Amino acid sequence: MSSTMTAAVLHGAKTIKIEPQPMPALKPGMVRLRVRRAGICGSDLHYFEHGYCAAFVPTRPFILGHEFTADVAEVADGVESVRTGTRVTVNPARSCGFCEYCKAGRPNLCRKIIMLGSASTKPPTDGAFAEFVSVRADQCHALPASMDDGLGAMMEPFAVALQAVKRAGNISGKRVLVAGGGPIGLLVAMTARTFGAAPVALSDIVAARRDMAQKLGADIGLDPSAKNLAEQVRELTGDGFDVIFEASGARPALRQAFDLVRPGGTIVQIGTIGTEDVPLPANLLMNREINFIGSMRYGDVFDEAIRLVATKRIDLRTLITGVLPLADAGEAMRQAGDKSLALKVQIQIAKD
Ligand SMILES: [Zn+2]
Ligand SMILES: [Zn+2]
Repeated sequence: MSSTMTAAVLHGAKTIKIEPQPMPALKPGMVRLRVRRAGICGSDLHYFEHGYCAAFVPTRPFILGHEFTADVAEVADGVESVRTGTRVTVNPARSCGFCEYCKAGRPNLCRKIIMLGSASTKPPTDGAFAEFVSVRADQCHALPASMDDGLGAMMEPFAVALQAVKRAGNISGKRVLVAGGGPIGLLVAMTARTFGAAPVALSDIVAARRDMAQKLGADIGLDPSAKNLAEQVRELTGDGFDVIFEASGARPALRQAFDLVRPGGTIVQIGTIGTEDVPLPANLLMNREINFIGSMRYGDVFDEAIRLVATKRIDLRTLITGVLPLADAGEAMRQAGDKSLALKVQIQIAKD
């Protein structure tokens, strides 16, 4: 295998260079993957727009990308769980496997997580907008032949939605609102429907996103700024929604959730709300016994995500709005950043 590969390297805000990089090392327990298709995430866009993502400031140029389909190109000595040639998708969050959280089945709470394509570590950890990337063998999840590369690269964002819906408990028959119609909000709405929630409403200030939500299976689109919103919600739900997923990351949306959730209901926080703390209506939370819970990335939900998509319980294809070659990674970023047109833009890397 050659000692270099081609990658899209982030050199600071709005600067991506397609250039040769050293082949990622194959350490014990690891596999080297040949990347086929990789999706652009909101966090990739933050790095591209600003050169950093919230508190994560890269200490050197690095490779973004953590949502992808790949072929196993090479496995380290002793790795038996994955075979060369297998097509896989990857859980990009490598937890330690040994701590109390990992052992309790909550690896997303592990304090030692190493995230692909992220500057949460110093130096940053290179990701998948490259011909090759190395991951630990247990991060790989085999894909069925029926699932194409585009859908395989959707498993990571879908896993975020699946985790959030699981955090809410049994939502069968529950009245659900998703606040925010970006890719994650749309995925949560679709997942809630798959799990039997009824009705599923989605709110967004952008009309086109409400329309998209309804096209993808939400029962109703709500304008959070409408004067008669409270009335609409009363008509739809009586006392309010049983479960609200806050997927917008907007402060007013979070505040509004406390008014739109019914007594005893649950608010699941998925969106990231800036870097500053937000005041909370603690008395409402107390006297209505509202459950306010967080959902962080995903636990071990990848194989379930793959089964749900492979059996067509949920169809994610409509969310893929563009596919560009690695050579045009910068342009792909710009397209993904145009939120009026794009949902999920992906980068095609290996073609065969
Ligand atoms: Zn992502
Ligand atoms: Zn751990």
